[in-house]
Amino acid sequence: MAYAITQTCCNDASCVSVCPVNCIHPTPEEPEFGRTDMLFIDPVACIDCGACADACPVDAVYPVDRLAGPDTVFGELNRDYYRDHPADHSWGAPTFPRSLPDDLGPLRIAIVGTGPSASYTAQSLLRTTGAEITMIDRLPVAGGLLRHGVAPDHQSTKRIAESFASVFHHPRLRVHLNVEIGKDLSHAELAAHHHAVVYAVGAATDRRLGLPGEDLPGSLPATTFVGWYNADPTVPAEAVDLSAERAVVVGNGNVAVDVARILLLDPDRLAATDIADHALAALRDSRVREVVLLARRGPEQAAWTRSEFLALQHLPGVELVVEDHPEVRAAIAAAPEGSKAALLAGLPLEHVDGGEPPRPGRRIVLRFFAAPTELLGTGRVEGVRLDGTALVAGPDGPRAEPTGEHGTLRAGLVVRSIGYRGVPVPGLPFDAAAAAVPHRGGRVIDPETGRPLPGTYVVGWAKRGPSGGIGANRACAQETVDALLDDAAAGALPDSSGTRRELARLVRSRRPDAVGLKQLRAIDRAERALGEAAGRPRVKFATLPALLAAGRR
Ligand code: NAP
Repeated sequence: MAYAITQTCCNDASCVSVCPVNCIHPTPEEPEFGRTDMLFIDPVACIDCGACADACPVDAVYPVDRLAGPDTVFGELNRDYYRDHPADHSWGAPTFPRSLPDDLGPLRIAIVGTGPSASYTAQSLLRTTGAEITMIDRLPVAGGLLRHGVAPDHQSTKRIAESFASVFHHPRLRVHLNVEIGKDLSHAELAAHHHAVVYAVGAATDRRLGLPGEDLPGSLPATTFVGWYNADPTVPAEAVDLSAERAVVVGNGNVAVDVARILLLDPDRLAATDIADHALAALRDSRVREVVLLARRGPEQAAWTRSEFLALQHLPGVELVVEDHPEVRAAIAAAPEGSKAALLAGLPLEHVDGGEPPRPGRRIVLRFFAAPTELLGTGRVEGVRLDGTALVAGPDGPRAEPTGEHGTLRAGLVVRSIGYRGVPVPGLPFDAAAAAVPHRGGRVIDPETGRPLPGTYVVGWAKRGPSGGIGANRACAQETVDALLDDAAAGALPDSSGTRRELARLVRSRRPDAVGLKQLRAIDRAERALGEAAGRPRVKFATLPALLAAGRR
């Protein structure tokens, strides 16, 4: 019986290189790689060896005959991929890890950030070179979006942290946490102590709608909501008020899907996860029973991935309905097999009266072809004014244009989930239009000269913008590491006179409360111990003082 890849696929392709018959596609060398929601195993070619299941960092691979319940569909999804993509399991040209000339002295490399892109970068550098690495993060705890972004009911995705943990504990790696580059230490100071600096700073804030009423209490960005349930110490426990019966989530990407799920999941199911204690308590008292996912375009243009959407259909006690609309009916009727619109076939089509309180029971309403034009309310959000939309052809695919129909939706909570946005790091170039660091192949570019800034690199969302899940960072990190190693081999990295010991002294003088590996381990031990006592993976400390105190113990 063949194996199949399931919902939690992280796309990092760890499984591809261990498959003895090359039956997992698309491979990183194929043009489809990065364009599909997940990777797929060809059931005809699979020899059932299980190597992919062992290599999968997020526990997403299972024998088809062991798939049960909502996962059963993944047997078909894996098989169906090969219906449209005739299998070519021949091997491409071999690739070898880049290495450095033996006569090159040890490199010192700083990585700013400790999230997935930073961890993949460190992993690659530690495996293929003798480089000494310094990792720096503005928060006193490592992990970036792996800790503060991945939803708590996706614990198997968080398992990838186990493979990253070996990075943090590597003898050639030092961490300086609770230290912000551009504030506590400048880029120039960091560069003076290293041959190269790699920025893996992600996209720290949210995109704005630019609509009246956007800042009313009760309207918040998804970045705040996600940080709130994940115990991000920069988000206060009281940031979210769940006293309304209807919530509107603007946007229908995977983050919007996460928000909808967490709002409506039975809190008893979340109680066994590492969700923030304050969020669990608030969700137990929540009055929210209807979440409207608002999309300005149609079902075929939905931003969620198929696997995340399929999981929405199986939330115990939560009904999934589609707001009835002639264009939605037409899209479903014309949907080719395997398309996003086809996934809606079979779901109830209903008209939801946005002027009335939601009916009893928990439900998610998928509303397409509607864009917010104003957030209504005096003192706090009471509703959303909407324009109907229709698709018109645009250079980058269909876009939404207002039709002139108007409506309102009563709601006391509005979560704006329209994408993350990068923020500039002082001393580092920033492309404001792309909200990312300008680069070529990972080398940061000086916008004035158009030439690479020696020894300065970028990776992850700060490099390519806020799209792609965790695994997408593996190939992205490799491209940046390859550029760095090419520059090292060509003698193009700047000299570095400052030592790691001098850097540690400088950090201590600026941030006496900086967190090192010993304190990071203490935080981890304390959180796991609290979790063990409560039957949870960990109980996260949710404030800066609590994290720092745990680190000192
Ligand atoms: P996203 O996928 O880019 O989705 C953004 C959504 O906002 C789209 O529906 C977009 O609609 C809508 N939008 C943008 N501007 C708008 C406006 N002015 N008015 C109304 N709607 C607007 O962003 P995301 O959900 O933040 O996710 C970021 C990345 O993280 C994605 O690659 C996602 O897959 C990944 N992620 C993955 C997982 C997972 O694998 N489980 C979980 C979370 C996040 P249009 O399409 O019409 O522009």
